[in-house]
Amino acid sequence: MATISKEARQYPDLTSGYNQRWSGTPESVVLVESVEQVAPVVQEAVRDGKRMTVNGAGHCFEDFVYNSDVDVVINMKHLDAVYYDPAMNAVAVEAGSNLLNVYEKLYERWGVTLPGGLCYSVGVGGHVSGGGWGALARRHGLIVDHLYAVEVVVVGEGGEVRRVVATREEDDPNRDLWWAHTGGGGGNFGVITRYWFRSPGATGREPGEILPRPPRHVLLSAAALSWDEITEAGFTRLVNNYADWHVRNSRPGSRAAGLFGLAVLNHRSNGQIGLITQVEADLPGADDLLAEYLDAITDGVGAPLQPMTASMGEYNAMPGCYEAQRLPWLQATRFLGTNNVDLNNPTLRADYKSGYMRGNFPDKHVATMYQSLTSTDIDNSTATMHLQGFGAQVNAVPESATAFAHRSSYFKLYWQVLWDDPADDDEHLTWLRRFYADLYRDTGGVPVPNELTDGCYVNYPDVDLNSAEHNQSQVPWYRLYYKENYERLQQVKKRFDPRDVFRHAQSVRLPD
Ligand SMILES: Cc1cc2nc3c(=O)[nH]c(=O)nc-3n(C[C@H](O)[C@H](O)[C@H](O)COP(=O)(O)OP(=O)(O)OC[C@H]3O[C@@H](n4cnc5c(N)ncnc54)[C@H](O)[C@@H]3O)c2cc1C
Repeated sequence: MATISKEARQYPDLTSGYNQRWSGTPESVVLVESVEQVAPVVQEAVRDGKRMTVNGAGHCFEDFVYNSDVDVVINMKHLDAVYYDPAMNAVAVEAGSNLLNVYEKLYERWGVTLPGGLCYSVGVGGHVSGGGWGALARRHGLIVDHLYAVEVVVVGEGGEVRRVVATREEDDPNRDLWWAHTGGGGGNFGVITRYWFRSPGATGREPGEILPRPPRHVLLSAAALSWDEITEAGFTRLVNNYADWHVRNSRPGSRAAGLFGLAVLNHRSNGQIGLITQVEADLPGADDLLAEYLDAITDGVGAPLQPMTASMGEYNAMPGCYEAQRLPWLQATRFLGTNNVDLNNPTLRADYKSGYMRGNFPDKHVATMYQSLTSTDIDNSTATMHLQGFGAQVNAVPESATAFAHRSSYFKLYWQVLWDDPADDDEHLTWLRRFYADLYRDTGGVPVPNELTDGCYVNYPDVDLNSAEHNQSQVPWYRLYYKENYERLQQVKKRFDPRDVFRHAQSVRLPD
């Protein structure tokens, strides 16, 4: 264990998140290296009345870890072992692991994986507890759908600290704490030290038999459309085609569940709109599935596909994938997740928003998208809205079975804008806020749960949802994230964090 104080050389490297808008001036950063070290650190902070936050891998979209109030940051990054635990018959993943570390360890040793996020450096600490979605979700569900147990260091009413292991076993008295970590989000109940994974229904006693197997090979395709060749009518067609394909092709277990598609709708200043697609190459007729999908998406758009030569958010240009590449699964995963240097840009500033979709876009949604993406208010090639493939196996799980409640959408929306200079904050925040407010103007500026939209993703947190100015829907932020699961999360909060030690702008509140 190492305690890094303000004087230490490495302090500046350990006091800001991936998004440089979020930094703190804590008295200390404590780097823990074993599960046993966590409870004493928490106990000391509680005893001394210090405000404490937990850093998994620092990818939080808001300031929940690094902010001006924090006194002690517990940094989990060096607690990153991945191993089979025979006592649990599950694979243990320590809470400081990042996704690529997990994928490599699970796959190279045992030929299995977890269906988590795309970006290599995302930490499991925040990611798993918030749901965890990625390229294999349509086939295998969310990462939390494979969560068997979690270990959390919690603080009792009297300030006493203890380690609790909670499993999904029906007779586990701590089962609710497990449930709260299947979509409740990080920074809410205690310090997560370990997760254990075993797929529901798995009967084997070998790590290779208890977790999902990814395809041996995938087809990775990256194609683009030039903004110079897209009219408003063509754009409308493209967006409606994408939505329509997902509405029609998202049955759990279907052949189409083996296809994961992103439509990267960049601001016009990027020059291109991207279509990034991954298909299980082992599927019979995989090439046809990919070709049929690209034909369906581009049908009537009136602009030819071309190589993706522009960088798009966290994806770099991929001209080599214009002809789909047949790649071993792990190589493709590593390539997609690491190929953009922007992920390590030390001046990166960013803002994000999200929404779930249960059907195709009404015309006025698409008109707003076109208007915002061609607006001359900004000139930023990273300003983008992604349509992200979802549904299929994700929707095979009932909404109350896990804390993750968005189980009827076919695709989801992710807005992202990146910039460098703090002087440009207003310009970018204004553009993104206006885009979102215009799109959802009929529902108070946010994607309320209804027959078309279905709230927001807690792993893409957005504190604007708390604000009466930006959320005029009468649907509070917690309902957008958790829908009808919120009250149960509050009960877990009351039982396991009754002093509200673990809190941030959007943490689960104690019940009244
Ligand atoms: C570039 C990028 C790509 C992304 N791609 C995806 C994706 O493909 N799919 C997807 O679903 N999401 C994605 N995300 C979102 C990601 O899942 C969340 O940002 C997630 O919360 C990150 O977890 P972290 O541990 O890295 O972040 P942190 O900033 O360290 O933590 C996030 C929250 O979790 C809490 N937390 C972290 N560790 C612990 C712990 N051990 N105990 C208790 N609380 C903890 C923190 O206190 C904070 O409140 C992406 C984010 C980025 C920046």
